[in-house]
Amino acid sequence: MVVAILALQGAFVEHEKMLDRLGVEYFEIRKKEDLKKEFDALILPGGESTVMGKLLSELELMEPLRERIQSGMPVFGTCAGMILLAEEIEGESPYMGTMHIRVKRNAYGRQLGSFYTEEKVKGIGIIPMTFIRAPYIERAMEKTEVLAKVNGRIIAAKQGTQLVTAFHPELDEDTGMHEYFLKMIKCHQPERSED
Ligand code: GLN
Repeated sequence: MVVAILALQGAFVEHEKMLDRLGVEYFEIRKKEDLKKEFDALILPGGESTVMGKLLSELELMEPLRERIQSGMPVFGTCAGMILLAEEIEGESPYMGTMHIRVKRNAYGRQLGSFYTEEKVKGIGIIPMTFIRAPYIERAMEKTEVLAKVNGRIIAAKQGTQLVTAFHPELDEDTGMHEYFLKMIKCHQPERSED
């Protein structure tokens, strides 16, 4: 299994460290040529969605990645990565728009945007959650499964092969969220061996 990590900006190195710990092969996507390499899944990290969105378009990565996600390649978007996948962004135009969620950026205000908590995620259990100028999901439309809420706000969800969190699981020690994603990838390709 090979996971591609979008490495244009933001917290991609932390995802790499997490995959190192889990013994998963990965490489970085920085330019169009990188898409020629084979990969089974994609991680869209946290950072600044406006910057990543602009670079994705300029580097001609947006359309090919969107197509692959739409045809079922597993994707994990954390924080800004979740914003990139959302079909609707409050007050702004969407980027990939592949996931039936409506998100609100910087949704907790400047002061409260960054905080730590622990909460239960469906199918995983209680895990640490670090939020940094975080968005939340205002609305999860049909086909989207809500996986976790904090203070009544949806902050983790899944729709088919797409997984999103408003927090940064790569910044804490717990590997639960990434393991959950790896299981999603394996379920998606049951015919392949685990090499
Ligand atoms: N505030 C950022 C945005 O709107 C997301 C923050 C993050 O990824 N930690 O893109």
